[in-house]
Amino acid sequence: MPTRTLTTFMDVPYVPDLATLDAEIVIQGAPFDLATTGRPGTRFGPNAIRAATAGLMWEPKRWPWDFSFRDRVRVVDRGNVDFAYADIAGMAAALRRDTQAIIARGARVLTLGGDHYITLPLLRAHAAKHGPLAFVQVDAHCDTDVSEHDHHGVMFHKAVEEGLIAPEHAVQVGIRTWYDSPTHRLTVIDADRATELGSKGTAARIRDIVGGRSAYLSFDIDGLDPAFAPGTGTPVPGGLSTNFALQMLRDLRSLNIAGADLVEVSPPYDPSGITALAGATIGLDLLQIMASAQEARQN
Ligand code: MN
Ligand code: MN
Repeated sequence: MPTRTLTTFMDVPYVPDLATLDAEIVIQGAPFDLATTGRPGTRFGPNAIRAATAGLMWEPKRWPWDFSFRDRVRVVDRGNVDFAYADIAGMAAALRRDTQAIIARGARVLTLGGDHYITLPLLRAHAAKHGPLAFVQVDAHCDTDVSEHDHHGVMFHKAVEEGLIAPEHAVQVGIRTWYDSPTHRLTVIDADRATELGSKGTAARIRDIVGGRSAYLSFDIDGLDPAFAPGTGTPVPGGLSTNFALQMLRDLRSLNIAGADLVEVSPPYDPSGITALAGATIGLDLLQIMASAQEARQN
Protein backbone atom coordinates (compact mmCIF):
# COMPACT_ATOMS: atom_id res chain seq x y z
CA MET A 1 0.00 0.00 0.00
CA PRO A 2 1.47 3.39 -0.93
CA THR A 3 2.18 5.85 1.82
CA ARG A 4 -0.59 8.41 1.95
CA THR A 5 -0.19 12.07 2.82
CA LEU A 6 -3.60 12.63 4.41
CA THR A 7 -5.64 10.35 6.64
CA THR A 8 -9.38 10.15 6.23
CA PHE A 9 -11.67 7.41 7.53
CA MET A 10 -10.97 4.38 5.31
CA ASP A 11 -9.25 6.72 2.82
CA VAL A 12 -12.56 8.06 1.51
CA PRO A 13 -12.29 11.46 -0.26
CA TYR A 14 -11.76 14.55 1.89
CA VAL A 15 -14.53 17.04 1.05
CA PRO A 16 -14.54 19.93 3.55
CA ASP A 17 -17.02 22.16 1.69
CA LEU A 18 -20.51 21.29 2.92
CA ALA A 19 -22.12 23.49 0.26
CA THR A 20 -20.97 21.20 -2.55
CA LEU A 21 -21.32 17.83 -0.85
CA ASP A 22 -22.37 15.00 -3.13
CA ALA A 23 -22.47 11.85 -1.02
CA GLU A 24 -24.85 9.41 0.60
CA ILE A 25 -22.87 9.13 3.83
CA VAL A 26 -20.63 11.79 5.40
CA ILE A 27 -18.02 11.07 8.08
CA GLN A 28 -17.24 13.94 10.43
CA GLY A 29 -15.16 14.39 13.58
CA ALA A 30 -16.11 16.33 16.71
CA PRO A 31 -12.85 16.79 18.65
CA PHE A 32 -14.53 18.00 21.85
CA ASP A 33 -13.89 16.87 25.43
CA LEU A 34 -14.96 19.80 27.61
CA ALA A 35 -18.02 17.97 28.98
CA THR A 36 -15.91 15.09 30.32
CA THR A 37 -16.31 14.38 34.06
CA GLY A 38 -13.35 12.01 34.42
CA ARG A 39 -10.19 11.62 32.35
CA PRO A 40 -10.00 13.95 29.34
CA GLY A 41 -8.46 13.33 25.93
CA THR A 42 -11.32 12.48 23.56
CA ARG A 43 -10.55 15.63 21.56
CA PHE A 44 -7.85 13.44 20.01
CA GLY A 45 -10.33 10.65 19.24
CA PRO A 46 -11.47 11.43 15.68
CA ASN A 47 -7.99 11.57 14.18
CA ALA A 48 -6.80 8.49 16.13
CA ILE A 49 -9.79 6.51 14.82
CA ARG A 50 -9.10 7.69 11.27
CA ALA A 51 -5.44 6.69 11.63
CA ALA A 52 -6.43 3.24 12.93
CA THR A 53 -8.47 2.59 9.75
CA ALA A 54 -5.18 2.56 7.82
CA GLY A 55 -4.77 -1.01 9.07
CA LEU A 56 -8.22 -2.06 7.86
CA MET A 57 -7.95 -1.07 4.21
CA TRP A 58 -6.05 -4.01 2.74
CA GLU A 59 -9.22 -6.12 2.72
CA PRO A 60 -11.33 -5.51 -0.42
CA LYS A 61 -14.43 -5.99 1.71
CA ARG A 62 -14.86 -6.20 5.46
CA TRP A 63 -15.12 -9.72 6.86
CA PRO A 64 -17.69 -11.34 6.99
CA TRP A 65 -19.79 -9.02 4.80
CA ASP A 66 -20.39 -10.06 1.18
CA PHE A 67 -20.01 -6.48 -0.10
CA SER A 68 -17.96 -3.35 0.57
CA PHE A 69 -19.73 -0.11 1.55
CA ARG A 70 -17.88 1.43 -1.41
CA ASP A 71 -20.01 -0.63 -3.82
CA ARG A 72 -23.26 0.72 -2.41
CA VAL A 73 -22.74 4.31 -1.30
CA ARG A 74 -20.51 7.31 -1.94
CA VAL A 75 -18.85 8.16 1.37
CA VAL A 76 -16.77 11.29 2.04
CA ASP A 77 -14.96 12.64 5.12
CA ARG A 78 -15.59 16.34 5.76
CA GLY A 79 -12.93 16.59 8.47
CA ASN A 80 -13.65 17.96 11.93
CA VAL A 81 -16.29 20.46 12.99
CA ASP A 82 -14.79 23.87 13.73
CA PHE A 83 -15.53 25.57 17.05
CA ALA A 84 -13.88 27.84 19.60
CA TYR A 85 -12.32 25.87 22.44
CA ALA A 86 -13.91 26.38 25.87
CA ASP A 87 -17.22 27.26 24.21
CA ILE A 88 -19.56 24.32 24.90
CA ALA A 89 -22.68 26.08 23.59
CA GLY A 90 -20.79 27.26 20.51
CA MET A 91 -19.62 23.71 19.76
CA ALA A 92 -23.16 22.37 20.15
CA ALA A 93 -24.53 25.06 17.83
CA ALA A 94 -21.83 24.50 15.19
CA LEU A 95 -22.21 20.72 15.24
CA ARG A 96 -25.99 20.97 14.97
CA ARG A 97 -25.79 23.56 12.16
CA ASP A 98 -23.25 21.58 10.12
CA THR A 99 -25.07 18.29 10.63
CA GLN A 100 -28.36 19.82 9.53
CA ALA A 101 -26.61 21.21 6.44
CA ILE A 102 -25.33 17.72 5.58
CA ILE A 103 -28.74 16.13 6.18
CA ALA A 104 -30.36 18.83 4.01
CA ARG A 105 -28.16 17.66 1.11
CA GLY A 106 -29.68 14.19 1.41
CA ALA A 107 -26.78 12.48 3.18
CA ARG A 108 -26.60 10.50 6.40
CA VAL A 109 -23.89 11.25 8.97
CA LEU A 110 -21.49 9.07 10.94
CA THR A 111 -19.75 11.21 13.59
CA LEU A 112 -16.53 10.34 15.44
CA GLY A 113 -16.19 11.81 18.96
CA GLY A 114 -15.30 13.49 21.09
CA ASP A 115 -17.02 12.96 24.41
CA HIS A 116 -20.60 11.75 24.51
CA TYR A 117 -22.05 15.25 24.93
CA ILE A 118 -21.77 15.68 21.14
CA THR A 119 -24.70 13.27 20.71
CA LEU A 120 -27.16 15.87 22.08
CA PRO A 121 -26.65 18.41 19.24
CA LEU A 122 -26.49 15.49 16.78
CA LEU A 123 -29.90 14.26 17.99
CA ARG A 124 -31.29 17.80 17.71
CA ALA A 125 -30.13 17.95 14.07
CA HIS A 126 -31.60 14.55 13.22
CA ALA A 127 -34.90 15.09 15.07
CA ALA A 128 -35.39 18.35 13.16
CA LYS A 129 -35.81 16.20 10.04
CA HIS A 130 -37.18 12.91 11.35
CA GLY A 131 -39.13 13.88 14.48
CA PRO A 132 -38.69 11.78 17.63
CA LEU A 133 -36.22 9.03 16.78
CA ALA A 134 -35.87 5.44 17.88
CA PHE A 135 -32.59 5.27 19.77
CA VAL A 136 -29.97 2.57 20.35
CA GLN A 137 -27.17 3.37 22.82
CA VAL A 138 -24.27 1.10 23.75
CA ASP A 139 -22.68 2.38 26.97
CA ALA A 140 -21.61 1.52 30.52
CA HIS A 141 -23.69 4.50 31.66
CA CYS A 142 -27.26 5.59 30.92
CA ASP A 143 -26.27 9.28 30.62
CA THR A 144 -29.71 10.27 31.89
CA ASP A 145 -28.48 12.38 34.81
CA VAL A 146 -30.82 15.18 35.82
CA SER A 147 -28.47 18.16 36.01
CA GLU A 148 -28.52 21.68 34.70
CA HIS A 149 -24.83 21.41 33.88
CA ASP A 150 -23.68 20.39 30.42
CA HIS A 151 -21.62 17.29 31.20
CA HIS A 152 -21.36 14.04 29.25
CA GLY A 153 -23.90 12.24 31.45
CA VAL A 154 -27.02 14.36 30.86
CA MET A 155 -27.81 13.99 27.17
CA PHE A 156 -30.51 11.36 27.12
CA HIS A 157 -32.55 12.91 29.91
CA LYS A 158 -32.49 16.13 27.90
CA ALA A 159 -33.22 14.22 24.67
CA VAL A 160 -36.42 12.80 26.17
CA GLU A 161 -37.39 16.19 27.66
CA GLU A 162 -36.84 17.88 24.28
CA GLY A 163 -38.79 15.21 22.39
CA LEU A 164 -35.75 14.18 20.31
CA ILE A 165 -36.11 10.46 21.02
CA ALA A 166 -39.18 8.30 21.55
CA PRO A 167 -38.61 6.60 24.95
CA GLU A 168 -40.79 3.59 24.08
CA HIS A 169 -38.47 2.93 21.10
CA ALA A 170 -35.19 3.63 22.92
CA VAL A 171 -32.83 0.99 24.32
CA GLN A 172 -29.58 1.22 26.27
CA VAL A 173 -27.24 -1.80 26.08
CA GLY A 174 -24.25 -2.77 28.23
CA ILE A 175 -25.22 -0.60 31.23
CA ARG A 176 -23.41 -1.47 34.48
CA THR A 177 -23.87 1.61 36.64
CA TRP A 178 -27.03 2.76 38.48
CA TYR A 179 -29.78 4.41 36.52
CA ASP A 180 -32.24 5.37 39.23
CA SER A 181 -33.17 8.73 37.76
CA PRO A 182 -36.87 9.25 38.61
CA THR A 183 -37.52 10.29 35.03
CA HIS A 184 -35.79 7.32 33.40
CA ARG A 185 -38.12 5.85 30.75
CA LEU A 186 -35.78 4.01 28.38
CA THR A 187 -35.44 0.22 28.12
CA VAL A 188 -32.17 -1.03 29.63
CA ILE A 189 -30.44 -4.26 28.64
CA ASP A 190 -27.69 -4.19 31.24
CA ALA A 191 -24.33 -5.89 30.69
CA ASP A 192 -25.31 -9.01 32.67
CA ARG A 193 -28.61 -9.38 30.79
CA ALA A 194 -26.85 -8.89 27.45
CA THR A 195 -24.40 -11.66 28.39
CA GLU A 196 -27.33 -13.96 29.24
CA LEU A 197 -29.12 -13.17 25.96
CA GLY A 198 -25.97 -13.43 23.84
CA SER A 199 -25.29 -11.13 20.90
CA LYS A 200 -28.10 -12.62 18.79
CA GLY A 201 -30.69 -12.45 21.57
CA THR A 202 -29.67 -8.90 22.43
CA ALA A 203 -29.91 -7.81 18.78
CA ALA A 204 -33.37 -9.45 18.48
CA ARG A 205 -34.59 -7.52 21.54
CA ILE A 206 -33.21 -4.26 20.08
CA ARG A 207 -34.96 -4.91 16.76
CA ASP A 208 -38.25 -5.49 18.60
CA ILE A 209 -37.95 -2.18 20.45
CA VAL A 210 -36.88 -0.10 17.43
CA GLY A 211 -39.21 -1.66 14.86
CA GLY A 212 -39.23 0.09 11.49
CA ARG A 213 -38.77 3.62 12.81
CA SER A 214 -35.90 5.90 11.84
CA ALA A 215 -33.25 5.19 14.45
CA TYR A 216 -30.17 6.96 15.75
CA LEU A 217 -27.37 4.68 16.99
CA SER A 218 -24.84 6.01 19.52
CA PHE A 219 -21.89 3.82 20.51
CA ASP A 220 -19.95 4.91 23.60
CA ILE A 221 -16.71 2.91 23.49
CA ASP A 222 -16.92 2.43 27.28
CA GLY A 223 -19.75 -0.02 26.58
CA LEU A 224 -16.85 -2.38 25.89
CA ASP A 225 -14.94 -3.85 28.84
CA PRO A 226 -11.75 -1.94 29.73
CA ALA A 227 -9.85 -5.10 28.71
CA PHE A 228 -10.89 -4.27 25.13
CA ALA A 229 -11.18 -0.47 25.36
CA PRO A 230 -8.94 0.96 28.10
CA GLY A 231 -8.53 4.29 26.29
CA THR A 232 -11.63 6.08 27.50
CA GLY A 233 -12.57 8.63 30.14
CA THR A 234 -14.73 6.58 32.51
CA PRO A 235 -13.90 2.86 32.11
CA VAL A 236 -16.12 0.37 34.00
CA PRO A 237 -15.14 -3.34 34.31
CA GLY A 238 -17.74 -5.97 33.45
CA GLY A 239 -18.55 -4.85 29.91
CA LEU A 240 -19.02 -6.34 26.48
CA SER A 241 -16.22 -7.84 24.41
CA THR A 242 -15.38 -6.22 21.08
CA ASN A 243 -16.56 -9.36 19.32
CA PHE A 244 -19.92 -9.39 21.17
CA ALA A 245 -20.49 -5.80 20.05
CA LEU A 246 -19.49 -6.44 16.44
CA GLN A 247 -21.70 -9.54 16.16
CA MET A 248 -24.62 -7.67 17.73
CA LEU A 249 -24.18 -4.69 15.39
CA ARG A 250 -24.10 -6.88 12.28
CA ASP A 251 -27.43 -8.35 13.41
CA LEU A 252 -28.86 -4.81 13.41
CA ARG A 253 -28.29 -4.33 9.68
CA SER A 254 -32.04 -4.39 9.00
CA LEU A 255 -32.61 -1.29 11.13
CA ASN A 256 -33.46 2.01 9.46
CA ILE A 257 -30.38 3.93 10.68
CA ALA A 258 -30.81 7.68 10.15
CA GLY A 259 -27.45 8.54 11.71
CA ALA A 260 -24.82 7.18 14.07
CA ASP A 261 -21.85 8.11 16.20
CA LEU A 262 -18.87 6.47 17.90
CA VAL A 263 -17.69 8.44 20.95
CA GLU A 264 -15.37 8.52 23.97
CA VAL A 265 -12.14 7.13 22.46
CA SER A 266 -9.36 8.86 24.45
CA PRO A 267 -5.94 8.26 22.84
CA PRO A 268 -3.82 9.48 25.82
CA TYR A 269 -5.09 6.41 27.79
CA ASP A 270 -4.69 4.09 24.82
CA PRO A 271 -0.94 3.38 24.57
CA SER A 272 -1.33 0.27 22.38
CA GLY A 273 -3.95 1.83 20.09
CA ILE A 274 -6.36 -1.02 20.90
CA THR A 275 -9.26 1.32 21.72
CA ALA A 276 -8.87 3.38 18.54
CA LEU A 277 -8.70 0.11 16.56
CA ALA A 278 -11.90 -1.12 18.23
CA GLY A 279 -13.50 2.24 17.42
CA ALA A 280 -12.32 2.13 13.81
CA THR A 281 -13.63 -1.43 13.35
CA ILE A 282 -16.99 -0.61 14.93
CA GLY A 283 -17.16 2.52 12.77
CA LEU A 284 -16.49 0.43 9.67
CA ASP A 285 -19.26 -2.01 10.58
CA LEU A 286 -21.59 0.94 11.21
CA LEU A 287 -20.79 2.12 7.65
CA GLN A 288 -21.53 -1.37 6.35
CA ILE A 289 -24.84 -1.40 8.24
CA MET A 290 -25.80 2.02 6.87
CA ALA A 291 -24.83 0.89 3.35
CA SER A 292 -26.62 -2.45 3.55
CA ALA A 293 -30.04 -0.87 2.99
CA GLN A 294 -28.87 0.60 -0.33
CA GLU A 295 -28.86 -1.08 -3.69
CA ALA A 296 -25.52 -1.61 -5.42
CA ARG A 297 -24.35 1.58 -7.14
CA GLN A 298 -24.63 1.83 -10.92
CA ASN A 299 -21.18 2.99 -11.96
MN1 MN B 1 -21.91 7.74 27.39
MN1 MN C 1 -20.15 5.77 29.17
